[in-house]
Parts: sequence; C-alpha cells; structure tokens
Amino acid sequence: DLHPVRRALLSVSDKTGLIDLAKALSERGVELLSTGGSAKTLRDAGLTVKDVSEVTGFPEMMDGRVKTLHPMVHGGLLALRDDEGHVASMNEHGIGAIDLLVVNLYPFEATVAKGADYATAIENIDIGGPAMIRAAAKNHKFVNVVVDVEDYDALLAELDANDGQTSYEFRQKLALTAYARTGAYDAAVSTWMANALGETSPRRRVFAGTRAQTLRYGENPHQSASFYVDGSTRPGVAHAEQLQGKELSYNNINDTDAAFELVSEFRPEDGPACAIIKHANPCGVARGATLAEAYSRAFDCDRTSAFGGIIALNQTLDVETAKQITEIFTEVVIAPGADEAAREIFAAKKNLRLLLTEGLSDPAAAGLAIKQVTGGYLVQDRDNGRVDQWELKTVTKRQPTPEELKDLLFAWKVAKHVKSNAIVYVKDGATVGVGAGQMSRVDSTRIAARKSQDMAEVMGLDTPLTRGSVVASDAFFPFPDGLLTAAEAGATAVIQPGGSMRDDKVIEAADEAGLAMVFTGMRHFRH
Ligand code: 5GP
Repeated sequence: DLHPVRRALLSVSDKTGLIDLAKALSERGVELLSTGGSAKTLRDAGLTVKDVSEVTGFPEMMDGRVKTLHPMVHGGLLALRDDEGHVASMNEHGIGAIDLLVVNLYPFEATVAKGADYATAIENIDIGGPAMIRAAAKNHKFVNVVVDVEDYDALLAELDANDGQTSYEFRQKLALTAYARTGAYDAAVSTWMANALGETSPRRRVFAGTRAQTLRYGENPHQSASFYVDGSTRPGVAHAEQLQGKELSYNNINDTDAAFELVSEFRPEDGPACAIIKHANPCGVARGATLAEAYSRAFDCDRTSAFGGIIALNQTLDVETAKQITEIFTEVVIAPGADEAAREIFAAKKNLRLLLTEGLSDPAAAGLAIKQVTGGYLVQDRDNGRVDQWELKTVTKRQPTPEELKDLLFAWKVAKHVKSNAIVYVKDGATVGVGAGQMSRVDSTRIAARKSQDMAEVMGLDTPLTRGSVVASDAFFPFPDGLLTAAEAGATAVIQPGGSMRDDKVIEAADEAGLAMVFTGMRHFRH
C-alpha cells in the first residue's frame, strides 16, 4: 500500500514552514504546483513552482474566490489510479495526478474572533481549500492531504522512512485530520452566521465549537479534556481576560461560568451583588450597600462551603472587597472589571485567578444548552425565562409585604441557578439557606434550613437566619410537607411555579400557617 509522492499542490494561507517543506519536497524530486500568494513566497525563496492557473488554463479570478475549482485540479486529486476508466479520463484530458495536497484555510475563525464585520467574515470563507481537502481526503487510498503546519515534519519523516512513499495507514490518519478540520471549519461558519442573525433553532445550528484550549485534565485527573468556544461574544468565562493565577481547570471553567451567569441576573444599576459557587451550586448570593458588603453577606450564608469557592461580582472589584476576599482561600474571582488598587492586593496572592469580562452576561439572551447522553445530545434553548413582579399570582389569603416581595423575586432568580431540587431561603437580599441537587424536594427544604442553623451556631446567633425569611422552590411543592418544613424553619412567604395536582392542599396548608404564597407559572429545573 505504499505510494510515491511525485506531484504536490501547495496552497496555504498561513505560510509558516512553507518554504522549508517545499525545499524538502523538491530535494526529494517532488514537482510543486501552487496558488498565487503561496507560489510567490516559494519563488522568492528561489524554488521552482508551477502556477495552478497554468495547469487549469484559467487565471485566478473574482478576488481569489475561484482559483483551484477546476477539473484539472479536482480530477488530479480524485482519480483512482487503479481504475482503468479513471486513468483513461486522465489521459484523454491531460489531467496529471496530484499525490500530495498541502492546504491551510483562510483564517475564518481568527477573523470573526477579531470582531470582523459581516462582509469581511464572508470574504474569509474559504471555498476552494475545503473542496480540495475533501477531495484529497476521499481519495486517501492514493493521496496525502496535510491541513496543519504541525504535520509537515511527520510527512517528511514518513517519506524518508519509505523511500519517498507513504503508507495507507499514514494517509488514512491524514484524511481523518482533514475531515476534522473541514467539519470544524464549516461549523465555525455556521455558528458565526447563526450568532450574527440571532438564530436559535437547533434545526439551523450545528453543535460544534473551535478548540480553544487543551486542559490539563477533565473533571477527574484520568480524563483528558479540551475547552471549545462556540463563537458567541457574550461576556463570560470563554472571553474573560485572566490577569493572574494558574490556568483554569475544567472544573474551574464550569464553576466560573455558573457563578458569572448567576451574578449576571443582578444588573449593576440595581446595586452590588455577589455569588459564591461550589461545585456549580451557589453557597451564598447577596446584595449589599457596597460590593464588600454583598460579598460578606454572601459569605455568611455558608462560610464553611465558601472556602475554596469561585466568586462572581456584578461590579468592578474595589479595594475593600479585594481585601476581604483575600482573607480566605478562593480559587477564582470573576468580575466586569477591577480597579488599580484592588489589582495590587490580588497581585500578592499569586495563585488566585482574576478574570475580567468587561460586561455582564444577558440572562434574557437566546442561546442553546447542550447535554450529552449515551448515543446522543440533548439540545434545548438556554433557560432565559424570567418572571416580572406583575406576572406573579398571589394564591393565599395573605399578600406578601413589599419587603417579602423583593426577597421572593431575589430568591427566584437564585433558584434558577441551583441544581434541582432547588430550595432557596432569602432574607433582606441575601441567601440564608440553599438546598441543592436532592432527589426529594422536602429533603432540599430540610437541608437548607439545617445548614442555616449550623451557620447560626458558627456566628453565635440566637436564632437561624431562616426566621423571617422567604423561600423559593424551582418547581411546585407536590405535597404540603416541604412547604410546612419551610414554615417551621421560619419562612413567612413562598414563591413557586404552582401547577401541582394538589395545589389546593398546598395553598390550604400555606393559609393555615399564615404564609403568603405567589405562583410564577414558570418552572426553573436545572439538572
Ligand atoms: P494563496 O496565498 O496561495 O494565493 O492562497 C492560498 C489560500 O487560498 C489557501 O488558504 C487555500 O485554501 C485558498 N484557496 C485555494 N483555492 C481556492 C479557491 O478556488 N477559492 C477560494 N475561495 N480559496 C481557495
């Protein structure tokens, strides 16, 4: 299965390593064909090359849109050398076989990442390159296709090891790399366009990204992992500028995203807010008169869990907050910005990662959420649902007071970001108990109350902070028991979607306990 390389076509946007490769090929007796810019580079280096336009008999035209799209090129790539009919066609039309294709594509991904306008992005969609790559890869029985500068050395080594020939296995590997590249390239184009047009239907979106980073490992050290970006320009962990600290790990990226998405529910103009995340769940979320106060109130929800946490802020990190944060071990801080003095304080903590995003994520923005199951992907709209005050329906005899109402809406926003079953107790714009990820709602209600009791002991308070709090439930209470547990813990008002078969019983229990309860009509499961 060894086949010699006698004729090569080189057409590359990234000219790195091109001259060395071409020299090495030409020393091995390989004839070189090339397109405009690539040919010029090679000639300037003193190499002999034939222009593709000479082979096709057509000039490169339409600003380079049409250079290699011609039977003289594609016939040379696609012809089966062991098929009589194919060989007859080659002879009849004077088509010469091309044994090696070296192409790297117009830098579409880099161009759109720089924020290019629509027309510039379109002009950077490579057409002839992917067409040739796909043709050469299909014909890997005979043809070698190299799409990555990183593979130049391996190609030369293969030729040297086999007296100017390559093996079938080698060409198969190259073909696989080639299809991975064209697949990713078209995915980048599709994603850019969907983002540009605000398209969210999964039918017109592809679920692939561009690999931005190889991670040290995945969720666990025995799992390898990468970070792919999807072309969205929304502020967040993918585009944040990291000012200091080690590279983010897989779990850091996941948690930082959860933290930032949560804190982004609180617009800066409504005042400072802080979220502290552990294992993708909040262990404290709070507003404050100052950012430092928001942080310390979030911290007080669960001081034990906050250790080694990930902190997201909705405003520029200031000195006071920076001082407080550095008092304990924290993995990551993400914020829209950081002032000079705050940066100086962080600089003393070399391991603390600081990420700046410039803005907040828009909770109402459309997008896709993807989850893998064995054998497939579940694709759905991002949960950008929101409930405004006037959409709430009071179902109990008692109306919530204005203070309760404020806290109910706060608790609801937080509950959206807590893994189900989610129960969130809130008092005066701060979480005081979070129950996450339990298989039973009543357990989440108990655990959150229990943790609040523990914190009361740590802080030397007479009564847990759930006394006089409000409570949010991400989905309906199926029975009165969860609601009654919350009432026992001291909650005075409840926000939940409603919609249970037994809503009547739950409302009756709420009335008996003197609670005020509002229904949102919207659920926020998160698994
Ligand atoms: P050069 O710098 O050699 O003029 O152009 C190299 C680039 O052109 C490569 O990125 C290659 O993928 C691309 N290319 C080759 N043939 C065609 C074609 O027919 N149409 C378009 N749009 N691009 C091509």
